[in-house]
Amino acid sequence: MNIEMLNGVGPKSALLLKKIGIFTVDDLLEYYPYRYNFINLINFFDIPENEVVYLKVKVAREAKVMYIKRNFNTLSFTAIVNDININVKIFNRGYLKQNIIVGKYLVLVGKYDKLRNTFIANDIRFDGVENKIEGIYHLTDGINNNFLYKTINKVLTDDYLIKDELPEYLNNKYKLIKKCDAINLIHNPKSQNDIDKAKVKLIYDEFFNYTFKINLLKINNKKELGIKHNFNKELINEFLSELPFKLTEDQLTTIHEVLSDLEKESRMNRLIMGDVGSGKTIVAAVGILANFYSGYQSTFMAPTEILANQHLDTITNLFKDLGLKISILTGSLTKKKKEVIYESVKNGEIDLLIGTHALINDNLSFKNLGLVITDEQHLFGVNQRNALQNKGKALKPDVLYLSATPIPRTYALTIYGDLDLSMIRTKPKMRLDIITKVKSEKEITDVLYKMLDEIKLGHQIFVVSPLIDNNETDLKSVYLLLEKLNLAFKSKVNIGVIHGKMKQKEKDEIMNNFHKGIIKILISTTVIEVGIDIPNATMMVIFNAERFGLATLHQLRGRVGRNDIQSYCYLISEKDNDRLKVMEESSDGFYISEKDFEQRGQGNLFGIEQSGELLFKIADIKRDSKILISASNDSKEFIINNMYKDYEYYKNLEKQTLFLD
Ligand code: ADP
Ligand code: MG
Repeated sequence: MNIEMLNGVGPKSALLLKKIGIFTVDDLLEYYPYRYNFINLINFFDIPENEVVYLKVKVAREAKVMYIKRNFNTLSFTAIVNDININVKIFNRGYLKQNIIVGKYLVLVGKYDKLRNTFIANDIRFDGVENKIEGIYHLTDGINNNFLYKTINKVLTDDYLIKDELPEYLNNKYKLIKKCDAINLIHNPKSQNDIDKAKVKLIYDEFFNYTFKINLLKINNKKELGIKHNFNKELINEFLSELPFKLTEDQLTTIHEVLSDLEKESRMNRLIMGDVGSGKTIVAAVGILANFYSGYQSTFMAPTEILANQHLDTITNLFKDLGLKISILTGSLTKKKKEVIYESVKNGEIDLLIGTHALINDNLSFKNLGLVITDEQHLFGVNQRNALQNKGKALKPDVLYLSATPIPRTYALTIYGDLDLSMIRTKPKMRLDIITKVKSEKEITDVLYKMLDEIKLGHQIFVVSPLIDNNETDLKSVYLLLEKLNLAFKSKVNIGVIHGKMKQKEKDEIMNNFHKGIIKILISTTVIEVGIDIPNATMMVIFNAERFGLATLHQLRGRVGRNDIQSYCYLISEKDNDRLKVMEESSDGFYISEKDFEQRGQGNLFGIEQSGELLFKIADIKRDSKILISASNDSKEFIINNMYKDYEYYKNLEKQTLFLD
């Protein structure tokens, strides 16, 4: 049922609710409190000094409002509690005057100043507050906690049908409470025990349904026949032996895994994770080569045009003299050029097609597609992940995903549980670690001098400023920085600005000028592309670094240090510097993401928060890892034993997950 259909939800509130992801009544019921207030009305004589308490009082005299200055007023009145008169004061709530009615009971929230016999309230509750536990919800402008609470409870008291889809034997196995009870208790708990019981049920259900889909995909992939590639290993070895460098151990292992996947009859579905610069491209290239020698076409999809062009350069260079015909397909090509490419892909003239999203196009069909590679995999949603695979003819092509976003193994196994994992942890030896320093704003002149040094050496610099929200006022931070840097460098250095609110064309132009070296310093928000390669950039300065998770900082830092010149990263911050020190100590993305995971949990891991792909409503992979393991084992058994065929709900879930019609 859509949210508009609810009584008491007008079109305006419906719009606001949609903003926080509530489209249906079920979404509303599953919009859980993120924390609780334990309201215990206090006895007047027990009020401790300087602590926020809930005190029930009777209004003794009408309220007075004093307007001190514009935007500032105080409302005060006299109240009675235990036959004692006390003064009550609250700031900027003049509009409450009418609600303070002599003789009425209400609950004050705030601190009591014994000396002045004055209660300084920060809130006043009018409707029958008793001892209770109050759920606190994430809000947006125009939606308050009480509105959400009331709307949810209206549905609950209206006997809205909440079906428990979990198989009964599993509810019994863990003595889980019923779904409708869990939903009721999570919004209206009477005790901590209620909250705990409700959570276990809801977390289990969430994990069970999620792992059901992932396990289904995995089991299905394994069953599915793919192309059995047949190539001459000698030719591959020859190619490898002619590389100008020695492959790292992890590269060799990963290449071995990819080649043996290709040779197998089952389909390859492999994710290669490794930091920027760890050398994933060469692994992908070997896959392409083996696929070519087996007589098939490959396609390589990158998230942006710039990256697609970079891949084209690198790979054309690597495959010199090997006889592969390589082409590129991006959105900016003319219709005519695109059609030429469609044609030559269709008749098999092109062996490797590199491109962007433009590859996902119904007009594009291959003669014999044998391998699909997707770079920066997290930037594509799950649905797009599948779109390219279906371009194969009789047998679906093997699939390889590349990700420069290292995430902890436990986490990866959950969100990418349908894929096989390869991790490239060791880095090519010649790389210098990026010298990283945490600095306070007082030390900013050191940083500015260092910037000047780098510019004199002909190098380029990234400056990053955080945007919390994507609203106009925050853009100031980027332009403010521009102003300050122009002042510092006396406008003698060409500084560019790029942010997410710009049109794509503007962004491309700025990026091109930075690429060409016309712009020396690029100030940006984090919104811009992660994989960008500017080998001449040797310095990264991040302002308000405390606002970023470690994994994000690591990603940002990865934009420099891309050639054999020493690079630097400065993290400017006034607080949280101990946490940031991890960045000074380590350059291992897996280690850093592990730390980030420990400190901030799953929601903030880079890439995840942006794709919005996996955000559990209540479950937390780290905190609830035991439940996750049980749920995953249970769902596997449920699938393997074909038990889910008895449940309409899970049969539908299967259809959706596997794109069955
Ligand atoms: P990624 O795609 O993982 O960010 P790339 O594959 O683009 O990294 O590799 C970054 C650079 O390192 C490239 O210039 C590549 O030629 C080089 N490179 C890759 N592997 C090695 C190695 N084993 N030794 C030295 N240089 C390497
Ligand atoms: Mg790459």
